[in-house]
Amino acid sequence: MPKNFYHRTNCRLCESTNLELAIPLKKIPLTEKYLENKNSNKDFEFFPIDIYMCKSCYHVQILDVVDQDILWANYTFRSGLVKTIVAHLHDVAQRVCKKYKISEKSLVIDVGSNDGTLLQGYKNQKMQVLGIDPSKEIAKEANDLGIKTIDKFLTEELSKKVVDEYGKSKVINCFNAFAHADKMIELTKSITNLMSKDGIFVFEVSYLVDIIEKTLLGTVIHEHLSHHSLISLEIFLKKFNLELIYVERNSFQGGSIVGVAQFINGPNNIDKSVKTLIEYERENKFDQIEKIKSFSKKLNIINEQLKELIKKLVLEKKEIAGYGAARSGTTLVTEFNLGDKIKYIFDDHFQKVNKYTPGDLIQVIPTKKILEKMPDYTFILAWVHAEKIISDNHEYLKKGGKFISILPEIKIITKENT
Ligand SMILES: [Zn+2]
Repeated sequence: MPKNFYHRTNCRLCESTNLELAIPLKKIPLTEKYLENKNSNKDFEFFPIDIYMCKSCYHVQILDVVDQDILWANYTFRSGLVKTIVAHLHDVAQRVCKKYKISEKSLVIDVGSNDGTLLQGYKNQKMQVLGIDPSKEIAKEANDLGIKTIDKFLTEELSKKVVDEYGKSKVINCFNAFAHADKMIELTKSITNLMSKDGIFVFEVSYLVDIIEKTLLGTVIHEHLSHHSLISLEIFLKKFNLELIYVERNSFQGGSIVGVAQFINGPNNIDKSVKTLIEYERENKFDQIEKIKSFSKKLNIINEQLKELIKKLVLEKKEIAGYGAARSGTTLVTEFNLGDKIKYIFDDHFQKVNKYTPGDLIQVIPTKKILEKMPDYTFILAWVHAEKIISDNHEYLKKGGKFISILPEIKIITKENT
């Protein structure tokens, strides 16, 4: 049994032990541990990522929690590097300030603030901003960019210190970090400690409904401990005297929701979007384990089809590559047994290029090499960027190369059908 992780025996949101395995998956190595060379330390651990459902509050979650220091060391993701994310976060900041009439110079806090991109959006709206992020390196980058950031995990103790030093905050944000936290109860308690009585809590999480409906296997990684539904979030938030007042869906990570909450009977009206989406979840049985289990059935079908396709390509001696050394790629490669089929992966990320993937030791080479190498087929592993990858590589398609996207269904993309 690997060290450096533990298996929870109770629900992350309600602490019930009435949990049931919903989606069994293969163990995967940590997705961001790229190796300098093929012969360097190969002794990485594989961690379970099975998905469970709590039968008391319906929360869908991973129970195997990798040691946070290991999981987040050398974390390579930066919001500021992705133009669409920058635009999205700045748009959210602008709309939140307008919709909830946040007065200038109000204190806005972001928990899991990454490189400060969201807070820069609030700063543009003339707010005072403070970031909290456990990654020392990223926090330093944010501080260097002028976004004051505390390089720690938010704990109750820290929340009290922050209030002593900065006062209560009008807007607390937690974007995606809300799905990354194991100690959700402490995190949410700390968030409410930071929040002024008339304040709001704004969060973004990848959305269970999209994950199940679109078979978003790529979002299943060790970092995503929770796959939230509004049904379970509503029950959870109520324990902290919070109520949802607004929710909207977007297409980030294949499908996410931005939610806004306030203290119960706070100053804002409850928007009808909350009721509409909760009703949708109920009608479509997202509070029933059979619904969550349907994900595995779809995966099995795709796996069988993929096996047939690969068998054919191998017989025809086709060269197969991958595109995008994304975090999600490891889950796809492992679950679909692509590790020994893919010869190399195209990606330009400075912390990954010319290195080897964890687990399967596939070499990452720069994307510009695609025209030189001309693999017959290239699996799109960075599935969230599929459209961009295809549009950036018209020349490859024109010269006869083909892309394969796997989910929600297997699709071969050629110059004829783009
Ligand atoms: Zn629960």
